[in-house]
Amino acid sequence: MAEALSRLLKPWGGWSAFVSPGERVLLKVNLLSQAAPERAVTTHPSVVEAVARGVMAVGGIPEIGDSPPFGGFRAIARESGIEEVARKLGIPLLELGNPKPFEGGVPPFQRLLLSQELRRFDKVINLAKVKTHTKMVLSLAVKNLFGVVPGKLKGEWHLKTHRDDLLFAMVLVGIYRMVNPAFSLLDGIVSMEGEGPSNGTPRNTGFLAGSPDGIALDAYVASLLGLPAKRLPTLQAAERMGLVDPGGYELLGERPGPERFQGFLLPKTLSGERRVPLWFARLYLGLRERRPWIDAALCERCGRCRQICPAQAIVGEGEFRVDLERCIRCFCCQEICPAGAVLLKKGWKSRGNKSGGRA
Ligand code: SF4
Ligand code: SF4
Repeated sequence: MAEALSRLLKPWGGWSAFVSPGERVLLKVNLLSQAAPERAVTTHPSVVEAVARGVMAVGGIPEIGDSPPFGGFRAIARESGIEEVARKLGIPLLELGNPKPFEGGVPPFQRLLLSQELRRFDKVINLAKVKTHTKMVLSLAVKNLFGVVPGKLKGEWHLKTHRDDLLFAMVLVGIYRMVNPAFSLLDGIVSMEGEGPSNGTPRNTGFLAGSPDGIALDAYVASLLGLPAKRLPTLQAAERMGLVDPGGYELLGERPGPERFQGFLLPKTLSGERRVPLWFARLYLGLRERRPWIDAALCERCGRCRQICPAQAIVGEGEFRVDLERCIRCFCCQEICPAGAVLLKKGWKSRGNKSGGRA
């Protein structure tokens, strides 16, 4: 891993191009939920270890952090293998809590509540996992920084942006710009396809990709998967916000062959309904949009979906169900469910279209 990383960083001259001696560096990993590394939910510990060692070798002082939307941070870090990396290298593990206002976001969200811990660091290195995402199509570098919004506050953004995926993506891009990571690295050694970001299928794609420009990096990885940039709401948002270089980007170093991504599965229930006016959604598209549904046979009654739901739409006592009148279709429940019991169903207009497509 160290060798692959050093080849990747070579065009820039190694970690010293991004980290100076004595700088405090946050390694922002993906600790979405409790899962062993082979499930491809979290950043792989070997990637985190190689980056931490590289940062330390140039005199940086790393800490490893994230803020899972639900579940014990420590338990998730332990199961992911990242706690062991921190212990072995003697570096702190940090839960990104303590929300404080940060100014300079994207209209109409100029003020964002992010973890105050960010202020302690000179640099952020963004260590994202390559995964599918039922709302954002793919979870890559830009999406990974949503983790600096402490815990359940993430759900409030779904509420504020309602079901407009592009508006939500603008918030994500705004957070990315505010955090401004020195370098973003995508762990695509084992990616997740299908029903990501937590219940998809691991797929051996065997690559690492990195860039100081996380937006260009996301565009590159989307292209590897055969997806045009406009298919990703975050890239659409970045373009709208004038953050995409019209000259494109320069590719440096090794590139994985297309055979590794052939037939890469996207989520079955990808939305084709972005930027739907609410009145129209209620009157017509409500019949065909995706709706969360809890499969009682799979549900373990852990209550996580109910706790994370920003709209208090999970109701019922012995058996949980979704109150669709209240539900804002943020799909946090599906993301967090450890049992894969929250399914996304489409209405009658889309019946028969069982596949979300292949890349
Ligand atoms: S649907 Fe999933 S998250 Fe909700 S209670 Fe059942 S198992 Fe837990
Ligand atoms: S029920 Fe699920 S999709 Fe609906 S608002 Fe709650 S968390 Fe979001």
